[in-house]
This record gives sequence, structure tokens and C-alpha cells, in this order.
Amino acid sequence: VIILDGKTTSEKILSDLKIRLEEMSSKPCLAVILVGDNPASQIYVRNKQKRAKELGIESRLISCPQNLQKDELLAIIQNLNADKSVTAILLQLPLPAHLDAFDFISQISPEKDVDGFTPYNLGMLMSARNGFANACTPKGIMRLLEEYKIPLEGRHAVVVGRSNIVGKPLALMLLEKNATVTIAHSKTRNLAQITKCADILIAAAGKSGLITADMVKEGAVVVDVAINRGHDGKLCGDVDFENVKNKVSAITPVPGGVGPMTIAMLMENTVDMFLC
Ligand code: NAP
Repeated sequence: VIILDGKTTSEKILSDLKIRLEEMSSKPCLAVILVGDNPASQIYVRNKQKRAKELGIESRLISCPQNLQKDELLAIIQNLNADKSVTAILLQLPLPAHLDAFDFISQISPEKDVDGFTPYNLGMLMSARNGFANACTPKGIMRLLEEYKIPLEGRHAVVVGRSNIVGKPLALMLLEKNATVTIAHSKTRNLAQITKCADILIAAAGKSGLITADMVKEGAVVVDVAINRGHDGKLCGDVDFENVKNKVSAITPVPGGVGPMTIAMLMENTVDMFLC
């Protein structure tokens, strides 16, 4: 079995980016908005800022209280849109329950939308055109598959999960590479019957233990996007890695698979948007 190593692949991407950045006379500036005190979000934001710093990308953290009001968050986004020294804006999700993410994402200037979540950038992806940026997690998965030369054309890809940030954009990217794509979700009947047909199986449900060995076709390529906390407190994905790995031709580990690729794509988007 081939382990699709996102850690090593992302390090290569980041070291290439570092060289590009060293040659640039002015540098991009990434503004990160963090609302509330979600512990996982705090860790993600810290990691993103750490990576940016290592590369010489300036980053700015706008940390807001849990009870932030709608008009306050809109004002923060408008200020960052107007601020010429800020070249990329990231709104860390999830937001507290009283704030609807779409109301705010849709207000970010598409040319600063480093996550590729604005209606403009998602619409460009839907139209098979280049927007300013593509969503980092799906983009990172596509890059990892490309790195390992996994053929996609004509193959059946099953994506479990239909979120706007992972499942849906990934399905479009796979379709663009001529895969035949099925999207499954929590209302899908007979999930196992569908996943068993997958040449490429992407698990992005956020449910540990969801994908067991009997649900996977012999020789399939399995990408586990999820980051769950297991009973033992350790990080795990949706896939029963230990049993599935004996059956498949390639698989991503958790951690060390999709996670590091996501951060690498965020850094790449930050640089590419600054240059275009
Ligand atoms: P999300 O918004 O909660 O979406 C989960 C999707 O999975 C939904 O479409 C849901 O269906 C579906 N689902 C849930 N339970 C299911 C089941 N039993 N069977 C089939 N489908 C099921 O989550 P997300 O933001 O897309 O993230 C998914 C996972 O990836 C999470 O574990 C998250 O932590 C992880 N993630 C990792 C990275 C990374 O960098 N590695 C980045 C982003 C997210 P419905 O639509 O019907 O509810």
C-alpha cells in the first residue's frame, strides 16, 4: 500500500514557496478573523500564523469575543476589504451559532478571499474557470493525488460529505479531471453499497469509524479528510485505517495526510493572490 504522505508533500510545496517569497520585494499580508473561543479553531489559527511567519508572510490576527454582533463583524470585514496593506482575508469557521457564515463570507472581497469560499470564487469553480482562489482542503487533496500520479479520468470517485468547504468543491474538481463523481451524505441510503463501487473514496463526514474495511473496494485509493477526536483522545479520521490499509492501493494517514496539505494550499493561495 502507498501511504499518501501529505506532510512530506506539503513541506516540498512550502519550501518552494519560501524561495519565491524571498525573491519578492514586498510581501503579502494575511488577516485572520477568529470569533469566540473554540479550542480547535484556536489551534488551527495558531498553526496557520506559525506557517505564515516561517515563510515571511505577514499575518494579522483579529480576535473577537464569542458574543460579537453581526454589524461588528461586518464592519471588521469591510475595514479589511478597504485596507490596502491586507492582501488576503480568512474568516475562521465555525462561527458562534448566532452568526450565519454565509452572511459574512459573502461580504469578503473575492480578490482577498484566500479560502475561495465567496459566491464569486465558488461560482468560478462551478463554471470551470479560474477565480482568485480555490478552497484549500479540496485543492490540497487534488494536489496530493497529482503528486502520487493517481489517475482520475474515467474512474468512479465517491465523496462522502457535501459541505461547501470540502465535499462540494472537491466533487467539482474531480469532475473537472473527468472522474465520474458520486456525492454521499447523511441521508444517503446504503452508503456501503455506494462506497464499495469507488475507485477513489474520499471520506469527509467527520464521523470516526464511519468507513470500515467491508465498505471499501479492493485496490481503491482512499483519502481521509476528517479530523476527529477518538475515544483515547488521539486524532483520527473517518476511516478504520488499520483494517482498510490492507485492502487498498493507497491511503492518507490522519494526521499527516490532508491536514498539512490544507495549510500549504492556504500559503500558496496567499502568495498567488498577492501576485495576480
Ligand atoms: P460538515 O460541514 O459537518 O459536513 C459533514 C458532511 O458529512 C455533511 O455533508 C454530512 O451530511 C455528511 N455526513 C455526516 N454524517 C454522515 C454519515 N453518517 N454518512 C454519510 N455522510 C455523513 O464538515 P466539513 O466542514 O465538511 O468537514 C468534514 C470533516 O473534515 C470534519 O472532520 C472536519 O474536521 C474535517 N476537515 C479537515 C480539514 C483538513 O484540513 N484536514 C479541513 C476541513 C475539514 P449532511 O449534509 O446530510 O448533514
